[in-house]
Amino acid sequence: MKSWIEIKPGSDFSMANIPFGIGVIPGRGAVICTRIGDKVVDLSGLARLGYFDLIGMKVEDFEKPVLNDFIAKGRKSACRVRSLIQECFTRGNGSEHEVLLIREKVLYDYTAVRMLIPLLVGDYTDFYSSIEHATNVGIMFRDPSNALLPNWRHIPVGYHGRASSIVVSGAEVHRPKGQVKPADSEMPVFSPTRQLDFELETAFIIGRETQLGESISTADAEEYIFGMLLFNDLSARDIQSWEYVPLGPFLSKNFASVVSPWVVTLDALEPFRCAGPEQKPGVLPYLEFEGDRNFDINLEVLIKPGEGNEVSVSKSNYRYMYWNMCQQLAHHTVNGCNMRVGDLCGSGTISGPDPGSYGSMLELSWKGTKPIQMPDGSERKFINDNDTVIMRGYCENEEVRVGFGEAVVTILPAK
Ligand code: CA
Repeated sequence: MKSWIEIKPGSDFSMANIPFGIGVIPGRGAVICTRIGDKVVDLSGLARLGYFDLIGMKVEDFEKPVLNDFIAKGRKSACRVRSLIQECFTRGNGSEHEVLLIREKVLYDYTAVRMLIPLLVGDYTDFYSSIEHATNVGIMFRDPSNALLPNWRHIPVGYHGRASSIVVSGAEVHRPKGQVKPADSEMPVFSPTRQLDFELETAFIIGRETQLGESISTADAEEYIFGMLLFNDLSARDIQSWEYVPLGPFLSKNFASVVSPWVVTLDALEPFRCAGPEQKPGVLPYLEFEGDRNFDINLEVLIKPGEGNEVSVSKSNYRYMYWNMCQQLAHHTVNGCNMRVGDLCGSGTISGPDPGSYGSMLELSWKGTKPIQMPDGSERKFINDNDTVIMRGYCENEEVRVGFGEAVVTILPAK
C-alpha cells in the first residue's frame, strides 16, 4: 500500500498504521486526527469533503476533544474509518483535483499541530506483569533466593492508579516532593525525591463498556481493547519505599504518568502478534487462553540531559510480558468490576532478560550501585532535573512498520 503522501523509510506512521489522536488544528480547534508520514490528517476535514458519507459518519463525529465517543462506536466502526483513510491516501486513487483539495484542506505538517491527551481517562489501572522486572525488584528489595512473591505466577498483580495526573507527551513535570526516610536517619524527612525514575510501559485502552457484575473472558478480551499507547509511569523510588507498606504505592506514583498521543489500534498491531513466555505452573481456568496473545513491539528509552544529546539507556520488547492483556482484563473483571470506554490499563514496567533491556533506572543502575555513564561525562543513577525522558516503540517486519511515536517528558526542578 503506497501513499501519495511521502513516507520516509523508518517512519512509525506507515499506511498500515493509521492511529487515532486529538490534534489542535490551527484555526479549527481540537479534532480527531490520524497521521501518515510527517503529515497530520484532520479527519473532520475529510468528513467535510464527504469521505465518510459511505459509513454515515459526519463532521460532528470528528469534532471532539477526546476519542471516547469515537471509540465507543466500536472496533468495527474504527476499522471502517481506517480502511476509508487508507483508500483515500493510496497512490493512484482519486483525481488530481481531489488530491489537491485534500492537501489544501486536511493535511498539516506534524510540527504545526499540538497533540492533546487523546482520552478522557476515567480509571487507570497499573499491572506488574513482567517477570524480569518483578524478579529484579524482588532481588533488590527482598530475597534473591525468593525474588518472586508466592502469588506472582498465579495472579496478574495490579493496583488502581490515578487518572487525573496522566499527561500527554511533551509535558513538563516538576520533581515531586514528599516524605522519605534516609537509611541513616531515625525519622522521615520532607524533601524533593532524590530517586526520580521512569517505568517503560505500554497501556491498553478499553473500547467497550461492561456492566457491574459482568466478567470478560480471555477469549473475548480483545473485543474490549481498542488499542495501545506508550506509557511512562513516573515513580519516586525513595517516597515509594517508605510509603508502600501495607497498601502499595501512593504519592510516589500519582504525581504524573505520560502517554504517547497516538492510539495504535489492535487491528494495526495484528501482523505482530506473537507467543508470550511459557507460564509455569499452569494458571487457574479463568486465566487460561488460546493462541498468540503477545505482540512484538520494540521499545526504547532515551535520556536527553538539558542541552545535550539524547542517549539510549534501554532497549526492551513488549513480547517479554509474562501476563498478556487478555489475562489482565479477565482478571480485572473476574470479580464483576465494570469497565468503561477510555479506561487505561498499564502493562507494568517491561524489562527484558539482559541488563540493557531493563525498563527502569532502578534496575538499570541496580538501585544506584551501577550508575550509567553519560557521554557528557555525567552519570545517572536516577533522573536529574532538566533531563528529558523519551520513550519510543514500534513493530516492524519485512513489509511494514507500525510505530507509536514518542512519549516525552521533561523533569523540572521541584517547585
Ligand atoms: Ca508501573
